[in-house]
Amino acid sequence: MKRSILIHPDPRLKKVAAPVADVSDALRALADDMLETMYDAPGIGLAAPQIGIMDRLIVLDCEKNEGDTPRPMVMFNPEVVASSDEQNTYEEGCLSIPEQYADVTRPADVTVRWMDRDGEACEETFGGLWATCVQHEIDHLEGKLFIDYLRPLKRQLITRKMVKLKREMARS
Ligand SMILES: [Zn+2]
Repeated sequence: MKRSILIHPDPRLKKVAAPVADVSDALRALADDMLETMYDAPGIGLAAPQIGIMDRLIVLDCEKNEGDTPRPMVMFNPEVVASSDEQNTYEEGCLSIPEQYADVTRPADVTVRWMDRDGEACEETFGGLWATCVQHEIDHLEGKLFIDYLRPLKRQLITRKMVKLKREMARS
């Protein structure tokens, strides 16, 4: 089932999400809903707080080019356990901040530990777009958005646009 995505500014997007104790059938169903919502948007990552669920759960699939084999990933309690000194700058966007993009610099490679949909412990090192995306999604679990990396003026400008967008959406 497709869920609706919260648009910034929303207090739920600023909250820290709670760790998941066990992967239940209900949480697996939630992860499936999040993947469906993400692909439909379309996007390459989605965190549970973006649909108003305050659990530490993210989904992502950065194989976004035509002809790529999809690689849907579900991560419960993801955490970055190592980051490269090397940095990478990507133009980021966010499904909760539609049609706004800005350069963000982050570690180029990160090693992430998480629990998969079967409750198994996993660890993998990501590079390129995957590294950026997984860090962006984990930030959501800390109540942090990519615009928090920008200069205050730029951040305020984007926030004002979103307030206006939400007002228009509420009217229609
Ligand atoms: Zn986002």
